[in-house]
Amino acid sequence: MKKRLLSYLYCPHCNGELHLSKHMDEPEILAGSLLCGTCQQQYEITNGVPIFTRFYKDHKIKLTAQNFGYSWQKFSKINKGFYKKQFFDWIKPVNENFLKGKVVLDAGCGKGRHLMTISPYVKEVIGVDISDSVFVAYNNTKHLPNVHIIQADLNYLPLKDEIFDYVYSIGVVHHTESPKTTIYNLHKKTKKSGSISLWIYGKENNEWIVYCIDPVRKFLTHYMPPEIIHIISFLLTLLLFPILKIIYLPTVKFKILQPLGKVLFYHAYLSYISEFDFTEINSIICDHLVAPVSHYLSKKEVEDMVSINSSKSNLEWHNKNSWRILIAK
Ligand SMILES: [Zn+2]
Repeated sequence: MKKRLLSYLYCPHCNGELHLSKHMDEPEILAGSLLCGTCQQQYEITNGVPIFTRFYKDHKIKLTAQNFGYSWQKFSKINKGFYKKQFFDWIKPVNENFLKGKVVLDAGCGKGRHLMTISPYVKEVIGVDISDSVFVAYNNTKHLPNVHIIQADLNYLPLKDEIFDYVYSIGVVHHTESPKTTIYNLHKKTKKSGSISLWIYGKENNEWIVYCIDPVRKFLTHYMPPEIIHIISFLLTLLLFPILKIIYLPTVKFKILQPLGKVLFYHAYLSYISEFDFTEINSIICDHLVAPVSHYLSKKEVEDMVSINSSKSNLEWHNKNSWRILIAK
């Protein structure tokens, strides 16, 4: 943790100011604690990361943290070029120029892949995640002077209100208990002139997942130890990977085969991921199986959630299976 991070933090219990009570090492504080000057609550700094999650009792939140933590640690490798392309596709129409000089929040930073991409363009970026993936993110980004990591719940953020120029949350809001509340809480942290990018699972065209795959997750896989889910997802990847490379990838690569896309199942998305490597496909399948909570939201539901907070938003159907949203505050 860098001392500078303190200027963005407050106590999530009482909004009081936090102070470094004891710490070792500077400029990078690896161990120590933060003390609230008002309610005297203490928060540990462990392996360079301030921890604000020790008090949770909710079983599903704990399970989300545990399962995604395992998944991110298992898939901790960062493929820089590939992730950059994917990231800017998720936050479109936001581009490098838009990000210049901005103070940014990565809501659900996982292993820190987006933090590494965005760091050269922004003034400061704070990555938040509820799981132990924060330690992977910290190791991946500790050499970057403008990146900070904290472990916290998006609905219980130890971050001051209206301090971010730009907030993004990719593939995270739909895994929270109430996406509506989470969007509201992210909105609170965004400056009056700021904006928010979201990428959320859609309901339309995903009925086969909602009615066939999701019940397997709900009633079976998310109760399994993450190690077993990882083995199952590996076996499923062994089945899917050759199908993507032999059938879907040629429809992207060769113009003459493009019309085939009209008859292939779930083509917009499967052709999109057909260029991904084995590990990436494996991590996508694993994500679908480990999540204790997954919401698949219709266009109307997303529009309603967004319109409570802002009248200026841009919503697009991404790969015919998800929503890419830019909210202007
Ligand atoms: Zn306090």
